[in-house]
Amino acid sequence: MTRQFLIAGNWKMNCGPADAAELLENLKKQKQELADVVDVLVCPPFVSLSMSVNYLHETDIQVGAQNLHFEDEGAYTGEVSARMIAESGCNYVIVGHSERRQYFGETDEIVNRKARKALEHRLAPVICVGESLDQRKNEKHHSVVEEQVKAALNEVGHSEVLDAVIAYEPIWAIGTGETATPGQAQEMHAHIRTILAEMYTDEIAASLRILYGGSMKPHNAEELLSQDDVDGGLIGGASLKAESFTEIITIAENLS
Ligand code: PEP
Repeated sequence: MTRQFLIAGNWKMNCGPADAAELLENLKKQKQELADVVDVLVCPPFVSLSMSVNYLHETDIQVGAQNLHFEDEGAYTGEVSARMIAESGCNYVIVGHSERRQYFGETDEIVNRKARKALEHRLAPVICVGESLDQRKNEKHHSVVEEQVKAALNEVGHSEVLDAVIAYEPIWAIGTGETATPGQAQEMHAHIRTILAEMYTDEIAASLRILYGGSMKPHNAEELLSQDDVDGGLIGGASLKAESFTEIITIAENLS
């Protein structure tokens, strides 16, 4: 089964509207040269979502949010709902990024509620899972990731799950410059696919995209994206420069 690569940029807490416009302008210029065999997604902060959607109108670059609340509306000061994100023109949302789990206390249960709410509003959740360095050193990485995948997709049905994307992001590789080896990435992606096949069917597992995230850069993207079960990248640092992000997109295109 051939899955189309998805190259997604997680801008984190960078790029308000002015910086976002500059980055998108550069991205649009560079991306024009490229064929459309790779899905491209940018995830700016909330305040830059609407302008990004407007700006990218008539391109095939998609826009997603970095977080959502699991209720539709109400007294949740400072929060943004799936309905609002969808209304802004986004079609993806990152769920359960390790920074949210670590700094904002997001539990597996919260991640599950957010993933289900995103799906309800036809937003594709990019569900992040991944182990810490300690967990890997103690050989717990397989079980930790298995628990996270199962918990995040709890009560997500066979037809709904088709819209979800999983991102394997070993915590020790995020923003550290350290990357999982292609072998480590492939091994974990294959493990995740086996878990998905057990939860759903072989066909569903084969069609779901599993992205790798953790210091993916132009110099290591080819090896990582060449792995059988790596269907794209969730990219932090390297997505903040149009040149490096486009280089990774081009690598994915050449591998397609
Ligand atoms: C991320 O934030 O999801 C990420 C993978 O960041 P970086 O590429 O900077 O490691």
